Amino acid sequence: MRKKYYLIFFLFLICANFLHAQQAENIIIITTDGFRWQEVFKGMDSAIANDPKFNQGDSSYIFEKYWSNDENERRKKLMPFFWNTIANHGQIYGNRKFDNKVNNANPYWFSYPGYSEIMTGFADTAINSNEFPPNPHITLLEFLNQQPKFKNKVAAFGAWDAFDRILNQQRSGLPVFSAFDTVGGKKPARNEKLINAMMQDSYRPFGNAECLDVFTHYAAMEYLKAKKPKVFYISYGETDEWAHNGYYRSYLDATHLVDKWIKEIWTFVQSDPQYKNKTAIFFTTDHGRGDIIKKEWRDHGSDVTDAYQIWFAAMGPGVRAGGEQKNNVQYYQDQFAQTIAKLLGLTYKAAHPISPEIKSVLSK
Ligand SMILES: [Zn+2]
Repeated sequence: MRKKYYLIFFLFLICANFLHAQQAENIIIITTDGFRWQEVFKGMDSAIANDPKFNQGDSSYIFEKYWSNDENERRKKLMPFFWNTIANHGQIYGNRKFDNKVNNANPYWFSYPGYSEIMTGFADTAINSNEFPPNPHITLLEFLNQQPKFKNKVAAFGAWDAFDRILNQQRSGLPVFSAFDTVGGKKPARNEKLINAMMQDSYRPFGNAECLDVFTHYAAMEYLKAKKPKVFYISYGETDEWAHNGYYRSYLDATHLVDKWIKEIWTFVQSDPQYKNKTAIFFTTDHGRGDIIKKEWRDHGSDVTDAYQIWFAAMGPGVRAGGEQKNNVQYYQDQFAQTIAKLLGLTYKAAHPISPEIKSVLSK
């Protein structure tokens, strides 16, 4: 090839690469249940940590592990991957100190309505119970699974068994592994066998409806590595459960683990040719919780002040860099679904109303 052609070819490669980076080919959606924006942005709350009712008899452990007088250092101690990597390469919304507001659009502020809002882009007021039957709406995951590019490349793992209904497993045909569902089908691989056995024998602090996050995470990682889904959802649940129990130490430890696991997911993604530089992550929560002032931090629901206040973060191709957002805006949870679809270069359509995407997340 002559020099001129080399140059043209080289420019073509740069352009192709650039265009490529504007859109994600794969998406990993991660939620951690009922995790407060207060800890996301301010780290450990010393008033809760010092209250003997909430520190499980050992405040020195959490102070040693998560405390710093400096707010920025403190939140980094709780969520190091979030504040080092996502903050540098992606975007983080919901710090109300800057009037950067993200809210539930649904009026209930508990889980099924929240997850349904995330997954359908619609705050349907008829969905008003955690016992609600299978979701009547076509979720984003079901829609994506109907697109030729993503057909049979969508899967979900959730610690809570309600995801079978929230994602309407039966109608959608999506693989939904929730609570104590075994993994690996009829021929589980070696690790899957071990995960299944340990899960069955494990302590069940939340009864039969929800397993410990560690099982959901390890099962999800096996699936991610073996099946390479293009659209993958992982839902962790312990943050909400420990908060309800008033176990602040466990709530913080659960958060710290989720942060570590997102790092593990990202490290894998960036080491795998199918995923590397082609995969975005979207991380959020289903609802907020109350505050320490009325000792309501343990709870959520429409009778709990401010429990509609949430947050979200995104990183990867298609996401504009910009870190922590500090402008006065108001976004809603029902905008997430279309934002995720747009990251993949698609427009999510269904029979129900779908709120528009959050444009400032997108790099184009
Ligand atoms: Zn809850």
